Amino acid sequence: MASRRSGYLTCPMCDAEVPVDGDEKPGDEVFCPYCETPLSLKIVSDEEAYFEEDI
Ligand SMILES: [Zn+2]
Repeated sequence: MASRRSGYLTCPMCDAEVPVDGDEKPGDEVFCPYCETPLSLKIVSDEEAYFEEDI
């Protein structure tokens, strides 16, 4: 199955593009490589996901 979310998602804190490989699960936490904010992955739909600041 081709990944639907591979590519980049935008960091809500610094607007940097954070690379994702498409295998992340809802709630997965990653650290923005630029501002180092912990980000929690939110899945909206099969084709839409975003990061939310996880504090
Ligand atoms: Zn950031």
